[in-house]
Amino acid sequence: MDTLHIIGAGLAGSEAAWQAAQAGVPVVLHEMRPQVGTFAHRSGDFAEMVCSNSFRSDDDERNAVGLLHWEMRAAGGLIMAMADRHSLPAGGALAVDREAFSGAVTAALRGHPLISVSEEEITELPSEGHWIIATGPLTSGALAESIRKVTGAESLAFFDAIAPIVHAETIDMSVAWRQSRYDKGETEEERTAYINCPMTKEDYEAFIDALLAAEKTEFHAGEAESSPKPTPYFDGCLPIEVMAERGRETLRHGPMKPVGLTNAHDPATKAYAVVQLRRDNALGTLYNIVGFQTKMKYGAQTSVFKMIPGLQNASFARLGGIHRNTFLNSPTLLDTQMRLKLRPNLRFAGQVTGVEGYVESAAMGLLAGRMAAAEIKGQVLPPPSYETAMGSLVNHITGGAEAKTFQPMNVNFGLFPPLDDARGGRRGRKDRYKGYTDRAKESFTAWLADQA
Ligand SMILES: Cc1cc2nc3c(=O)[nH]c(=O)nc-3n(C[C@H](O)[C@H](O)[C@H](O)COP(=O)(O)OP(=O)(O)OC[C@H]3O[C@@H](n4cnc5c(N)ncnc54)[C@H](O)[C@@H]3O)c2cc1C
Repeated sequence: MDTLHIIGAGLAGSEAAWQAAQAGVPVVLHEMRPQVGTFAHRSGDFAEMVCSNSFRSDDDERNAVGLLHWEMRAAGGLIMAMADRHSLPAGGALAVDREAFSGAVTAALRGHPLISVSEEEITELPSEGHWIIATGPLTSGALAESIRKVTGAESLAFFDAIAPIVHAETIDMSVAWRQSRYDKGETEEERTAYINCPMTKEDYEAFIDALLAAEKTEFHAGEAESSPKPTPYFDGCLPIEVMAERGRETLRHGPMKPVGLTNAHDPATKAYAVVQLRRDNALGTLYNIVGFQTKMKYGAQTSVFKMIPGLQNASFARLGGIHRNTFLNSPTLLDTQMRLKLRPNLRFAGQVTGVEGYVESAAMGLLAGRMAAAEIKGQVLPPPSYETAMGSLVNHITGGAEAKTFQPMNVNFGLFPPLDDARGGRRGRKDRYKGYTDRAKESFTAWLADQA
């Protein structure tokens, strides 16, 4: 049987190796640490958690990441098994003893009869054989350069300049309205592609004051230096607070310019500034705030953004940020089997595919490992339905997300298809979440049964 090669023994690569080996496929796991380090990793162990020690909520009935835990446990995931074995008391969250956890993952993989480990940095995308690339947000410079050469300069980002993403149902449409600037577009859908939030002069001045006063996070030491770019910000990706520092009117001439827009609720009054939101997924359940990448601390972001008329009750699928993160423009580059369309012998998994977080990365490793193992055995494993947490994520990165504004994504119910009424589609939020998780569990169980 052919061997599966995996680059990177992080959260994704470790899970991929385990899944493939458990399916009977021989695996070589190539990991550069401890020979070559990154600014964030501290050890030579596999599946090292570089920052927090939390896998977030473990509520599999009303929380999307908790549901992802459930699915990974159901699929015999190594990461979840070791996290459960080394969990720490943390309320409803799953926190772990990080050293014991990665030590146990390392021991399980090194002890598996079908897995061998090669301690080396891979510097070029391999042209032959079955490979999974799971090198994470801190993919080494040489390999990143090789990926960039194959996929094109525009297809690989080195920094996350993340604008906040809002759940569409929480935008107050009695204040906001749908319209593209200058009504641009061939179809009605294009002419109403944006949601606009109007500001008076007073709203704007108060917003700028709050922005300037808000607490900001600093770049992690080493983050900027270890990047292939000399400056942390690319053109057009300045944080809004940096723009505001350059002058109080800068934002009004940039992302908040009010031109080409007429307030549908009050056509006679010209807004002093307008905040625009753009659809972020094909379902239309998520909207990103255009041009609002920010380094404000999370707590500050929610209070400052809720000052925007129309967003006073907004719930955020993710908040903004800017940090070192190497990731592909997966919606254009990967097929539904997570393979690089240009070189189908290469699969990608983990954070480098544009998912965000330990759990999401491990989940994409689980899927890539199973898909690669099936392929080596002459089979094709379809992805789980996008009614499941795992399926919704892979659907998002392999085509569901808008490629032009693609940014790394945590799992959240906005990625799931809406519920029909029988499942509680019209009920309150908590019941709806239960409807999502019930539906997902049925669907995921059926997906696993098909592989048995
Ligand atoms: C500073 C920082 C803080 C973060 N904090 C959090 C947090 O608190 N919570 C959270 O959920 N997520 C956090 N993340 C995101 C986190 O990195 C991912 O969630 C997760 O680690 C990604 O898993 P992965 O397997 O894709 O990548 P990683 O876990 O980073 O694994 C990639 C592996 O590939 C190896 N590698 C890289 N290049 C090569 C090469 N060329 N050859 C061989 N091996 C290579 C690396 O050494 C590493 O072991 C943080 C990320 C960063 C950078």
